[in-house]
Amino acid sequence: MSEVLSKVLWRLYLYIILVSVSLLALGTKFLWDTIVSEVKTELIYANKIISRSLSALLSKDAALIRITSDRLLESGLSEDSPESIKLLDDLLSHNQELVGITIANLQGEVQLVSSNIQKDHLPNLLEKAETQNAFTKALNSDSMVMGRTYFSSVYNDWVVPLHFRIKDKNQEVVGVFSNDIKLYGNNSPWQNSYMNGTLRVSVINSSYYFQFASFVNEEGLEALFSEPIQTVYLDMFSNALFEKTGHTLEDFKTQNLGINFMEYTNHTGELLVGAFSYDLNYGHFIFTTHKKASLTHKLMAPLAWLSSLLLLFNLVLLMLFKYLSNLQRKSKAILEHQSQHDQLTTLPNLYFLARNFSQWKKANGSVYSVVFIDLDNFKNNNDIHGHSVGDKILIEVADRLQSYFKNGLCVRQGGDEFIVIIPEVEKDKITSLCQNFLLKLKLPIKVNELEFSIRASIGIARSPNDGLDMEGLFRKADIAMYEAKRRKCGVYVFTQQLDIRNVRNATISKELNHALLKNEFSLVYQPQIEVSTNRVIGVEVLLRWHNETLKNVPPAEFIPIAESTGAILDIGDFVFARAFEEFLDIYQKVIKKDSKYNHDNKFRLAINVSILQLSREHFLERLFELFEQYQCEYANLMLEMTETLIIDNLDKIGGLLEKVKQAGIEISLDDFGTGFSSLSYLTKLPINEIKIDQSFVQGLDSETNNITLVKSIINLGENLDINVLAEGVETETQLETLKTFKCKYVQGFYFSKPLDKSSLLKYLKAQE
Ligand code: C2E
Ligand code: CA
Ligand code: CA
Repeated sequence: MSEVLSKVLWRLYLYIILVSVSLLALGTKFLWDTIVSEVKTELIYANKIISRSLSALLSKDAALIRITSDRLLESGLSEDSPESIKLLDDLLSHNQELVGITIANLQGEVQLVSSNIQKDHLPNLLEKAETQNAFTKALNSDSMVMGRTYFSSVYNDWVVPLHFRIKDKNQEVVGVFSNDIKLYGNNSPWQNSYMNGTLRVSVINSSYYFQFASFVNEEGLEALFSEPIQTVYLDMFSNALFEKTGHTLEDFKTQNLGINFMEYTNHTGELLVGAFSYDLNYGHFIFTTHKKASLTHKLMAPLAWLSSLLLLFNLVLLMLFKYLSNLQRKSKAILEHQSQHDQLTTLPNLYFLARNFSQWKKANGSVYSVVFIDLDNFKNNNDIHGHSVGDKILIEVADRLQSYFKNGLCVRQGGDEFIVIIPEVEKDKITSLCQNFLLKLKLPIKVNELEFSIRASIGIARSPNDGLDMEGLFRKADIAMYEAKRRKCGVYVFTQQLDIRNVRNATISKELNHALLKNEFSLVYQPQIEVSTNRVIGVEVLLRWHNETLKNVPPAEFIPIAESTGAILDIGDFVFARAFEEFLDIYQKVIKKDSKYNHDNKFRLAINVSILQLSREHFLERLFELFEQYQCEYANLMLEMTETLIIDNLDKIGGLLEKVKQAGIEISLDDFGTGFSSLSYLTKLPINEIKIDQSFVQGLDSETNNITLVKSIINLGENLDINVLAEGVETETQLETLKTFKCKYVQGFYFSKPLDKSSLLKYLKAQE
């Protein structure tokens, strides 16, 4: 999900970059267009101004020449007339653009000059290449003619001559008036405020000679003015012009076509943008141009700004997106950590294990044990001291777990269950490792002035021995843990038999659900004998189960399962009902007639009960109901409860036992000696009989330990005034020993195996 978000984020960033680059391109295009249009306006404007001022200058000069010519005709065109020279000098001094004035005759010979020059140094204007054409043209024209730019040795400078023919009163041409205009320098009319910067101005005459160029330095002038522009360039220009306007260059010489804007390559191969116009009066082109490169330069500054701005924007954006992405990655990491760890203990959880186990295996190898740890009776802590105390204990347990299993992968599975994966499979090593941990765990934990000693049961499954898949190993470690709990042995390592038993237990558990309905249960009765008289005092009722698939299942196997599933409740009810029912029959057929049994010596019916039955609500009421229903007042009802059952549940059933006693029902303490509990409770509880466990009775043959134990139990009973019954008596030796110890009652195969109802009837009749 968050990866998708990150992708979207970066895609968005890419889009923004793309958009901003497109914007830059668009902006550049707009800028360029603006620059070009500005330049175009500027060039056209400059062209207009320059052509106007040049035209104005030429018109002024033409007018002055005309006036001066008229006056010269009066004072004479030869140098002999000082008046004429003065006229020329006046003209020269009032017009600063002029460097010199000459008057030539029709043959081109200079007749009269302004006093600043020496006539003798001057060439014949008709013979001099640079002036020849214009001079001839002037001779034949009524207008002023601008001659080619040339270098004059007289002025030692570049000049442009203006020729205007002089006519006398009879309209006869008598000479040519020539004003030489300075091309460069301070007072040059060409020099103009517009000609600064990158603006280039050039004037080209109708024969395509340069008259003026603002952009050529001194060394280049000779080459510039001496030859006309090559036709190749002219053609190129003309063609481009034609394509654009439909006119050739020549058309401009005859029609007023105004100012045109062009992009073109000039004679030096430079790419230019320029405006040009043609002066129809004086016959020259005026070009105002820029190198196209200078436009690019103009673009550079704003473009640089724009790009930097964009770059900055993108950088800020990049940072922002990186920040967002980081934030997102961090929050993802936090979420991931949260989802993979237990909130309370901060230990990794099962999800973490699932995601990281293969990595762990890479680092630690594929030989490992799954250690299942379940705290014993932890629920009690929660119930008694509250959850906050329980939580603190769990945190401490997690800490101890982690600091003990340093090279293990510790996981809280939930509740009071923990799992550790350890790279160790050697049975003894791992067992002692875990047992050691249980010792560490047992050390007191202090919470709010309270001290707790935490015990736990540990089950271990080992890979690859017990399987490869985690789920299977978990299940097996869990089974082993339950076995550890059952055996109260702390640590138990999984075995195949355990699994087999577990599978069988599952079948038993399943089959038990239908056993009552299918009527698979029956009862057998084992006689109990009074040692001194050899008389049958009664029977112990024992349950039998014959299942279709499992065949005969011993009660030692299915009773604990029935207890764990709760099936024992209904089964227990069945046992009472069936026992009472069958007893009634036995009573009618045998007991009633037997003089041994009377009101004071009732026939005993001993029935085994489990804790679940006892702690069930209305246990006694139900029992009495059955009691009445089957007229069991003829029987001496005795409940057999195991020693451990009573001790472990003293709070729950202490009161109940009193009620049982008051109802005239007796209590026998079954399997006595197997629990290691204190004997003090014996005096406090209403117990009628102690039943020595058959393991001790059977040991009477050989083990002296047992002899002492049995003897002391019998003595204990005697002292406390509690009858003692020894069960599991199989041999005469055992019976004799018990006799010498004055054991009151016995029960065992030596007298009889448990018998079904009809066999019991026969047995009792035989006893009569
Ligand atoms: P328990 O109460 O200790 O029952 C005595 C067990 O010892 C019976 O086994 C009996 O058949 C056996 N036994 C008697 N004399 C001898 C002998 O001389 N040698 C040997 N080796 N065994 C002898 P069973 O019937 O298999 O019962 C096993 C356990 O199942 C009982 O132990 C009792 O705890 C439980 N159980 C049996 N029936 C019921 C019942 O109806 N309700 C409950 N809650 N538990 C029952
Ligand atoms: Ca019993
Ligand atoms: Ca027993």
